[in-house]
Amino acid sequence: MRSKIVAGNWKMNNDQAETSTLIDALKAQGDFGTTRVIIAPSFVHLAQAVTLAADSGIEVAAQNMHEATSGAYTGEVSPAMLSSVGIQTVILGHSERRAYFGENDATLAKKVTNALDHDMDVVFCFGEELEDRKSDNHFNVVKSQIANALFALPAASWSKIVLAYEPVWAIGTGETASPEQAQEMHAFIRGLVQDQYDAALADDVSILYGGSVKPGNAQEIFSKQDVDGGLIGGAALSAADFTTIIKSI
Ligand code: PEP
Repeated sequence: MRSKIVAGNWKMNNDQAETSTLIDALKAQGDFGTTRVIIAPSFVHLAQAVTLAADSGIEVAAQNMHEATSGAYTGEVSPAMLSSVGIQTVILGHSERRAYFGENDATLAKKVTNALDHDMDVVFCFGEELEDRKSDNHFNVVKSQIANALFALPAASWSKIVLAYEPVWAIGTGETASPEQAQEMHAFIRGLVQDQYDAALADDVSILYGGSVKPGNAQEIFSKQDVDGGLIGGAALSAADFTTIIKSI
């Protein structure tokens, strides 16, 4: 079911005390209505975050997960481990994972399948680089990222998938896609899903925009028809900014 979602990717930020402080500050903002609010702290603090966020309506997600179920993968975290500390949702395919840790479409397809096999929800990220947009190749890039990782899934799995379009040139740069550019790409993405599955399924998928969303630009981006919310990086580290963004929906 399509819903409004604002997710905060904390990346490699916040120690234990800062994690508590930020969650407490978000809880103090009270009710976020029907908007799904998700935060993704580091692995180390997930159990603590789940406890702190209990009964607040704020969901806690992981920023990554390994594609195997268990075994000799030093330093990695499995879906069963995440589930065992109360994590229901995992972000997969973030551009920083792709760029710095070599994650590709094939790996991500396996990660998505493993997450779904463990009944987890997936926020699946993708987006073009600046050169792709400059060479007018951005639609092709996005199409192949989505198709390679997700289009082998059965239709029934899509109730567990949230898409997050994050143009790499807009992440952490202060440069945002214009609301029109976001809407154009989101409508294209929904069309791809419709062509591969059907109109009802495509209409049900939530598609988030990510890339330098701030309190000052969130409302205009979120007002677009096919933009169902945002994946927020830097601004999610401030309770005041994140709350303003959530309330912009
Ligand atoms: C992100 O990392 O997913 C992101 C959107 O970051 P920022 O909001 O800082 O651009």
